Amino acid sequence: MKTPKGTRDLLPEDTHLFQLIEQRALTHFARYGFAEIRTPIFEETALFHRSIGGDTDIVTKEMYSFVDKGGRNLTLRPEATASVCRAVLQHNLVGPDDVVRLMYLGPMFRHENPQAGRYRQFFQLGVEVFGSLDPIIDVETIDALMRFLEPFHLPNLELVLNSVGDQTDRPAYLEYLRRELSKKADRFCRDCQRRIAHNVLRVLDCKEDACQAELEGLEPISNFWSPENRAHFEAVCEGLTRLNHPFSLNPRLVRGLDYYTRTTFELISGDLGAQSAVMGGGRYDRLTEHLGGKAIPAFGWALGIDRLVAILKEHTSVEPARPDVFFVFGQRAWLDELFPFLCALRDKGLSVAFDQRVGSFKSQMKRANRSGARWAVILGDDEMRDHSVTVKDMDQSQQETIPMERLWSKVTEKKGENHGR
Ligand code: AMP
Repeated sequence: MKTPKGTRDLLPEDTHLFQLIEQRALTHFARYGFAEIRTPIFEETALFHRSIGGDTDIVTKEMYSFVDKGGRNLTLRPEATASVCRAVLQHNLVGPDDVVRLMYLGPMFRHENPQAGRYRQFFQLGVEVFGSLDPIIDVETIDALMRFLEPFHLPNLELVLNSVGDQTDRPAYLEYLRRELSKKADRFCRDCQRRIAHNVLRVLDCKEDACQAELEGLEPISNFWSPENRAHFEAVCEGLTRLNHPFSLNPRLVRGLDYYTRTTFELISGDLGAQSAVMGGGRYDRLTEHLGGKAIPAFGWALGIDRLVAILKEHTSVEPARPDVFFVFGQRAWLDELFPFLCALRDKGLSVAFDQRVGSFKSQMKRANRSGARWAVILGDDEMRDHSVTVKDMDQSQQETIPMERLWSKVTEKKGENHGR
C-alpha cells in the first residue's frame, strides 16, 4: 500500500522544517496580535461555492466533496479563509469597532494534477484581519509576512501587487474585457472561452502563453479604478515603500478566488519552477456578506508551507534536531542503574540518547557519532568508581572528566555558548 496520489508522508527530514516554520509563525504573529483559530477540516460544500466562487477552478474541478452517512454535502477544505469567515460570523467574533486578527496552520485539499510543489494535500499558514478598511492594515499584514520570512534568508523572492477594484469600478472593467475578448474568443484556450462568458477576470491569469499573448494591448484594470480604490492602492504602495519592502506591479494579478476586492498580492520565488507562488492574498471586504452575514472588511493571505520548505531545503542548512548528549556505558548494568539520572536530565530540558544494546565502547561511540549528538558522555570503570563522567565534545574532539553532578550545568553552559555563536 502507498500514499494516495498527490499526497505524501512527511518524514523527519521534512517535519523538522515544518515545525520550525510553524513554531516561528506562532511566536512572530503573536507580536502583531494574531491569535490562532482551528476550524474543521471539512465544511458544508455550500460554504466554498458561496465564497470561493462557483466558476473558479477550485470549485469546479478541485474539491474533494462527498455525501456523508447522514446525507450531508461536505467538502474537505481547499483553503481556510472561507472557514475562518464562517467562524467569525457563527461566533460573532467581530464587534462594530473591533479589529480582530486570526491566524491558522493546517492541511488543505485540492484535486489538482500533482507535480513538484503541487500536492492534493498541502499545508498553509494564513492570517486574516477583520474589521478595518484602512490601507495601513494591508501594509501591516504584508509587513508581518515579510518580517516573518526575513530570518529564513530566502533568495529570489519577489513581492507582486495589484488592485482588482471592487463593486464600484470592477463591473465596467469586466464589461470592457468581455467586449474585447469576445471579439476573438476562438483564439483562447477552452477554459478561457468559458471564462470569457462566466468569469472573465480569470482570463488574465491563464497559464497558457497563447492566451497571454492575446491580452497584449488591452487596457489595464488601473485605468478603471475609482478615485477611492486608486487612493487605497497608492496608500498601500507608499506604506510598503516607507517600510523598505520592494515590490513590483502586475496588472494581470487577479488570483484564483472570486472574493478578492482592492489589493491582491503574491510572493513569487525564482526557485520553484512552474509552481512559483509561495503565497498569495489580498483584501476581501464583501466575503462575510456573500456568506449571509454582516459586512466586515478584511485582509488576509495564505502561504504554502510545502513550498517554503522546498526553498529552505534548496538554500539553507537548517540542521535537523540532534541529541544534546549520547551516553556510552561500560556495562549494561550501569545503564539500568543510571536510568533515573538520564530521565532527570530530560526533565531538565536536555535531549538524551543512548544505545540500549550497550555493546563495546567502539560501537557505542560510532552510534554516538551517527546520532549527531553534540556530546558523548562516557561512563567507564574509572568514572563509575569516582562518580564522574567523561564529556567528549563531538564537534571539537576534546574531552574532560568532571563530577557527575556537574554534567547538567556543564552541558547547558556549553549549550548557551553554542547558541551565542
Ligand atoms: P491560494 O489559496 O490558492 O491562494 O494559495 C496560496 C498558497 O498555497 C500558494 O501560493 C501555494 O504556495 C500554496 N498552494 C496552493 N495550492 C497548492 C498545492 N496544490 N500544493 C502545494 N501548495 C499549494
